[in-house]
Amino acid sequence: MEKNEYDYVILGAGLSGISLATKLKKSNRTVLLEKSNEPGGLVKSIEINGFWFDAVLHLLHYHNPKVERQLKKIGGSVFKPIAPKADVHTSHGITKFPFQLNVGGLPKDLAIECAHDYIENAYQKPRKVKNFEDWLLQSFGQKMCEIFFFPYNNKMWKRPLKSLGTRDFVWNIQNYSIPKVLNGLFREEKKIEAYNANSWYPIPKKGAKKRCMGILIDKLKAPINQQIHLKEEVVEVDSKKRCVTTKSAHGIQHYYYKKGCISTIPLPVLQKITIPKQKKTNLKLNGVLYAMVMLKGKPYETTNLWDYFSDEEVIFSRIIYMQNFDPHSAPNGKWSFMAEITYKAEAKKLDPKKTAAKIKKNLLALNIVKSKKDFIDIEFVDHKYAYAVFEKSTSQEVRKVTKSYANKDIHLLGRYGKWQYQSMAQVYEEAVAKADELNKS
Ligand SMILES: Cc1cc2nc3c(=O)[nH]c(=O)nc-3n(C[C@H](O)[C@H](O)[C@H](O)COP(=O)(O)OP(=O)(O)OC[C@H]3O[C@@H](n4cnc5c(N)ncnc54)[C@H](O)[C@@H]3O)c2cc1C
Repeated sequence: MEKNEYDYVILGAGLSGISLATKLKKSNRTVLLEKSNEPGGLVKSIEINGFWFDAVLHLLHYHNPKVERQLKKIGGSVFKPIAPKADVHTSHGITKFPFQLNVGGLPKDLAIECAHDYIENAYQKPRKVKNFEDWLLQSFGQKMCEIFFFPYNNKMWKRPLKSLGTRDFVWNIQNYSIPKVLNGLFREEKKIEAYNANSWYPIPKKGAKKRCMGILIDKLKAPINQQIHLKEEVVEVDSKKRCVTTKSAHGIQHYYYKKGCISTIPLPVLQKITIPKQKKTNLKLNGVLYAMVMLKGKPYETTNLWDYFSDEEVIFSRIIYMQNFDPHSAPNGKWSFMAEITYKAEAKKLDPKKTAAKIKKNLLALNIVKSKKDFIDIEFVDHKYAYAVFEKSTSQEVRKVTKSYANKDIHLLGRYGKWQYQSMAQVYEEAVAKADELNKS
């Protein structure tokens, strides 16, 4: 066997690549090629002068008890249950998350209109849903859409909601029964019901070497550390020669695969670097800019983990209070949060200076930060690949491309490899299933 010949070559060492590698039979020679200087992809911890942040905020939530057992075993006792308590700020008032279960926080007349339209809608004969806007209207009725679902989703997607498809966007929006929505008119304290209600997050002891969700990656990758090649960007995948080419500070390297290549890198990137050339597809996406805001002074008093903002005047769609995840995420006497700003990947890049100024202005106006002097610093982490945008034909196009790659022994995996909405637990589950399939073949 030549030095650079492997059974499996895995492109990308994010959660999906790492999970797959840990489950492939040990007898397989496997390598993971990662362009970044650290594994983990979106699941990384970031430390800035004693402040700890997640590269992207992650709560670990499960829908499959088997996956829950496996990931809890890997994570160990440092992972604790945490409830996704949050407020929803609209230009008509503030209410609890999820909005559709808590309209009672709005002014009384609006709350009644919301409930009325929801009920009226539920009794109408179902129509054929044409697009995402239509789906929202049919699911929640006119008033809830006017107050929250339209402005919030316009802000998230930055494109006409009518141009978006219906199927792949709705992973985090739930419908509830009429009695549950009516109960929300009275704002009773109740258990949080949402897709991520059963969530876990690492809370290590004070002084621990590492904090935040990157801990999960450290634990998961331990058995396969030696197989990960960092700072090697995949620049070509030749499906005929079964060869993957990478570029690094040491030059060009070629890796040959005997059994298969598994790509977890974003599908549009793979398509660009595959030879023979692939038929062009038009996959669109939104990025998310994470602002890591470091502060001194008295922290904002809230027990929420985060708050949503649907108003266009507020630049961020969500702010995340790090001290309520982990009390030791900031140095003594300081506090922090992260602000999420989505952007259209094909649009002009956001200017960090102007964005920081807007964030400060919004936070002072919202009274979340009391004084200009409380700001220590704001740093940005940009994730160009954050949200796949699904237009009407996207799923069909992706299915065709996936099939054509599979015929060449190139398997697509992961949230951006498969171009599908997947949580961490789903990414892990699919990687385990892929390993089972490959181990049998
Ligand atoms: C804003 C946001 C919030 C989220 N919140 C949650 C949450 O609360 N809970 C939850 O369970 N999930 C959440 N997710 C989803 C979760 O982040 C993903 O499911 C998971 O991280 C995807 O892992 P992956 O390995 O498929 O992709 P990635 O993490 O993107 O990994 C792909 C890897 O490929 C590498 N790569 C790319 N191009 C190349 C190249 N040319 N050569 C070599 N390497 C390359 C990248 O550097 C990266 O390391 C969230 C996602 C986003 C965007």
